[in-house]
Amino acid sequence: MMTRPWLIAGGGISGLSAAIALQTCDLPFALFERFPEAKPAGAGIILAPNALEALRRLHPDLKERAIELGRAFSEMRILSDRGDVLSRMHGGQYGSSAALTRTDLHRLLTDALPSEALHLGKKAVGVKQCVLAEEQNPILMLEDGSEREGEAIIACDGIHSLLRQQITSPAPLRYAGYTCWRGIASIEIHQPYLSETWGARGRFGVVPLKNGRAYWYALTNAAPGDERASAMDAAGLLDHFANFHDPIPQILRQAQHHPLIHADIADRKPLEQLAYGRIAFMGDAAHAMTPNLGQGACQALEDAAVLASCIQRGNSPQDAFRAYEKLRISRVRRMVADSFRMGKIAQLEQPILCRIRNTVMKLIPDAMNNRQVQQLYRI
Ligand SMILES: Cc1cc2nc3c(=O)[nH]c(=O)nc-3n(C[C@H](O)[C@H](O)[C@H](O)COP(=O)(O)OP(=O)(O)OC[C@H]3O[C@@H](n4cnc5c(N)ncnc54)[C@H](O)[C@@H]3O)c2cc1C
Repeated sequence: MMTRPWLIAGGGISGLSAAIALQTCDLPFALFERFPEAKPAGAGIILAPNALEALRRLHPDLKERAIELGRAFSEMRILSDRGDVLSRMHGGQYGSSAALTRTDLHRLLTDALPSEALHLGKKAVGVKQCVLAEEQNPILMLEDGSEREGEAIIACDGIHSLLRQQITSPAPLRYAGYTCWRGIASIEIHQPYLSETWGARGRFGVVPLKNGRAYWYALTNAAPGDERASAMDAAGLLDHFANFHDPIPQILRQAQHHPLIHADIADRKPLEQLAYGRIAFMGDAAHAMTPNLGQGACQALEDAAVLASCIQRGNSPQDAFRAYEKLRISRVRRMVADSFRMGKIAQLEQPILCRIRNTVMKLIPDAMNNRQVQQLYRI
């Protein structure tokens, strides 16, 4: 009997890595992405050691390629707006993180897949049957009116997941209280570490990339949909962060020559289940989190590596999805909660509270910071 393909809705980091997971398991698959061309959202990305390990488990070459495309860092620093070190964190036994552009990561994942399995310009609008009838093949409905019957469906359609809305009672978006700008500037940054600067006026991340470029991001507290924030350009940001330490003003001066991306930061209450019969959720569709731990995409890659191992145990799709849920659910739920809490501390804006926070942070020994960050890196 012919095996039907596994169907994937969404062609972002989670959809592409789910496809690689299925390929690793020698299973047929078809991926449906709503946009007619690849449009990785965002500027740069940091893949922490757990994400690089997940890539290695998916395919031995992927980890090395990701590091080659970007720059490797074993240390992350949190700095005050004057540039004092508040804390340092090392990957230790888990190794380095890789910083690269989103475009390069997208290409890396896409190039690992056969182009005929990637169906662009195909929006998934729902699923039919199946949720309670586990023995039946699920059907993915597309916006063009066509339907695809598959062995199983993996929903990777992001924070605004339509499939999630259909299958579960939708949890509302939870606005985090701050808004974010990010971009890539043509500037050589010589610091051998990743840094995030915390001040009463906001936060600024500096991520050196390859070839004389740097990925940067800035966050300030704002009301949701704030019009001034939406209209802010790099010159406005330079004004706002003018008294932050070097090289932040230099980066923002350079950033004026490049496009920037602006978005309010939000997450959602994570799903109670990741598996619903022959349908599973991965990435932001399952566990959209604020970016404070830099773990959203890392967790999507972990999802894919763990799913591959569950399928390889020879289980039916429903059993593999149940095993995947069991292995993943508490870790991703914790990440969503921890990331949200971390944002509240990082975005303090009363100067007195910032000073107290900074003093406490300086007192925490590096060994303790390392232990905490390394917990994130253990898959
Ligand atoms: C400011 C910021 C910085 C971040 N930095 C980091 C970082 O450094 N490291 C890290 O690990 N994470 C980071 N993240 C988180 C990371 O970007 C996300 O967790 C990750 O991109 C999620 O990937 P995804 O594929 O699940 O979802 P998405 O990236 O949202 O992809 C979903 C895909 O599905 C498609 N789609 C949507 N609906 C449909 C549909 N109905 N049918 C078909 N296709 C559909 C979309 O077009 C898209 O291609 C950051 C997030 C933000 C906001």
